Amino acid sequence: MAVLKIRTLPDPVLRRKAKKVRNIDGSVQKLIDDMIDTMRAVNGVGLAAPQVGVPLRIAVIEIPGEEVITLINPEVTKRQGERVLGEACLSMPGDQGEIKRSVTVRVKALDQHGRQIRIKGDELLAQALEHEIDHLDGILYIDHIESRDKLIKLTEQPQL
Ligand SMILES: [Zn+2]
Repeated sequence: MAVLKIRTLPDPVLRRKAKKVRNIDGSVQKLIDDMIDTMRAVNGVGLAAPQVGVPLRIAVIEIPGEEVITLINPEVTKRQGERVLGEACLSMPGDQGEIKRSVTVRVKALDQHGRQIRIKGDELLAQALEHEIDHLDGILYIDHIESRDKLIKLTEQPQL
């Protein structure tokens, strides 16, 4: 287990489309363990593999007080509703912005054992699912904002 370095803009790995995981082998298991350690070390709520420099479709989410969710090759199957909320990203330290996100998000993925899972999220989990799956496609929350001038200094926003 190890805490990995979090990549920040303008690191190009953050803008690449991550590749599907084909084999959930020992190296993938180790990466997932390290990602969980890293997320906890920085008090993050979610972390995607590109944020630690690995262009693979893997993300971890830990809503405070709930179990860690590991997502391999996740896909959004349904989004419902729209809301405006504050968002911050570990790869853009010190900033936050207001963006539109879905109210409810359904996702299918594999877990760390290769089993198919389906998750329905609302509130912070819905936001984290959309944010982390965006990372796997090289998308950052600023892409959902008209201009970077709209960003403000980070306060107590959960970081994703
Ligand atoms: Zn992020």
